[in-house]
Amino acid sequence: MLINCPYCGPRDLSEFSYQGDGYRTRPDPASTDQAEWNAYVYDRVNVAGDHNEIWQHAGGCRAHLRVTRNTLTHKITSVGFARDERHKKPHGHRRTGAHS
Ligand SMILES: [Zn+2]
Repeated sequence: MLINCPYCGPRDLSEFSYQGDGYRTRPDPASTDQAEWNAYVYDRVNVAGDHNEIWQHAGGCRAHLRVTRNTLTHKITSVGFARDERHKKPHGHRRTGAHS
C-alpha cells in the first residue's frame, strides 16, 4: 500500500505509523463525566468502507496526515495534512462522546 504524502510523494506504508481514528474528539479535560472518558479511551468504531484516519509519516517528513481509506479494499481516496480541515469528512459513525 502506498500513501501519497503531500510533501514527499508516494511512499510505502512501512514509512508511516497509524495514529488512530480521525474523528475521535477528546473530552474537555475539566470534565469528570466517567462515561464520556470511558467512551473516548475504549470505544472504537469498526467501519466497513471509507474511514478517516490519522497517519504520521514517521520515516519521512514526520507530518501528520488525514487519510481516507476504504477498510474493505485499502484504496486511499484522499490524503491531506491533519491540520487541514478540508479533508475531514463524516463517515456516519462519528461518536459525539455522549453515552446513553
Ligand atoms: Zn512526508
